[in-house]
Amino acid sequence: MTAILWFRRDLRLDDNPALVSAIADGMPVIPVYIHAPDEEASWARGAASRWWLHHSLLALDASLRRLGSRLWIARGDSLAELRRIAAVTGATRVVWNRLYDPVIRERDTQIKQALKADGLDCASHNATLLFEPWDIATAEGRPYRVFSAFWRACAKRLCEPSPLPAPSTLPAGPDLEKGLAVEDLGLLPRFLWDTGLRAAWTPGESAALASATAFLDERVAVYGAARDLPGIPGTSRLSPHLHLGEISPRRLLTMVIARHGDPTAARVEAFVRELGWREFAYHLLYHFPRTTDEPLDARFAAFPWRGAEASEDLAAWQQGRTGIPLVDAGMRELWHSGWMHNRVRMVAASLLTKNLRLPWQSGARWFWETLVDADLASNTLGWQWTAGCGADAAPYFRVFNPVRQGERFDPQGVYVRRWCPELARLPDTCIHQPWTASQAVLTACGVRLGRDYPLPILDLAASRQVALAAWSDTRLTA
Ligand code: FAD
Repeated sequence: MTAILWFRRDLRLDDNPALVSAIADGMPVIPVYIHAPDEEASWARGAASRWWLHHSLLALDASLRRLGSRLWIARGDSLAELRRIAAVTGATRVVWNRLYDPVIRERDTQIKQALKADGLDCASHNATLLFEPWDIATAEGRPYRVFSAFWRACAKRLCEPSPLPAPSTLPAGPDLEKGLAVEDLGLLPRFLWDTGLRAAWTPGESAALASATAFLDERVAVYGAARDLPGIPGTSRLSPHLHLGEISPRRLLTMVIARHGDPTAARVEAFVRELGWREFAYHLLYHFPRTTDEPLDARFAAFPWRGAEASEDLAAWQQGRTGIPLVDAGMRELWHSGWMHNRVRMVAASLLTKNLRLPWQSGARWFWETLVDADLASNTLGWQWTAGCGADAAPYFRVFNPVRQGERFDPQGVYVRRWCPELARLPDTCIHQPWTASQAVLTACGVRLGRDYPLPILDLAASRQVALAAWSDTRLTA
């Protein structure tokens, strides 16, 4: 008797319910990862996320080897591969942890039915969320569409987590044929583009735990005040680890409770609430699966987005040369490190969808390709929220002013100077709006606008008025 443990986005040994269930009867276990990007359809992993996956799989394999096992890598149709492995090894049981992306959910349902029809015992578990999306509902049994109400319902149950410890040994299953190496999956970029990623991140379960420990011991108490300042490391930077399941939200919450007691207490509430936004994103993705590509608020389907005629503006935004320093700094941070500070994500997304009136889906796709934490639930929520067409969206009339945002959250321009070094010598007074600096100041600081750094590609005030009018018309006429 052998069990197949199918790893997906739960690349850890700690608090892994599928792993615990696989070893419960003392059966030998075959840990497997199947690379099947075609099954993710149009949301197959982007380049930065593939880079992370490569290193995370290597780390998982190393951890399994320390327990006397290893990770078997396969590629191709998931059902066919699971059947093949079951046939080769005589496995009678297949276990995995659930995923919630619409296309994958459908696939997994079919796989479960097919394997059961083959006579295999199958079981799936929750390793990704504090609460299953269907466990939290309004009094009428409906999904929540407003975060505050959703989070009030969750907050009552926050002391429930009971993460499962990692096993100390893993009964190895029979050997498969040679199998693939992680390198064979071709996840790394073909040209040298990942230097910044390598400098910024250490993927894997041990690094996730170390980052969480350092953050909760040293920085969580000032998170509430520091989380909006992109120039300092004020947030946990755990998002890519959470996305691939290198650490579980249950483990994180338990660590918070162990150190700080009540997770709703003022010291830690702001951080725990962000984990709540992640839960809300999954709640929405589960209940409104079309929102990955369509606005939740149907009125926005008719919004007059700019199209191909604005492709140069889209390219300027992607490449961090809009001439708006906070946005350019964010887009360069993203390209270089695979991550962008949340405050700047909102400002950059607002500029694209409101001032430039480019479809939120174009921005979501660029983030998908370039973020190491690209996550269908959180990315969809973030873009629809900023564009004003999602559940509990930012009010449509909120158009972030990148100059005011910069002056408020990056007052000395630390962040802008880091990512736009050509502006580094400008004084604080004009670091967020270099076009207002006198020619004498620009010359003294070695900045030639339009040559060293772009002139703004848009007029912030005028484009805001156009956006507000278009948004208002859409709401009234739909
Ligand atoms: P912290 O502030 O330390 O928060 C802790 C954890 O809470 C994060 O790791 C994350 O898992 C979760 N979290 C925090 N804020 C949010 C949020 N607004 N929505 C959902 N979960 C949240 N997050 C992603 O993980 N993947 C994405 O693809 C993604 N795309 C986004 C796109 C846009 C346009 C916007 C505005 C936000 C997006 N976010 C996304 C949410 C947020 O920006 C990141 O989760 C956060 O910046 C990650 O940094 P951190 O780990 O230091 O967060």
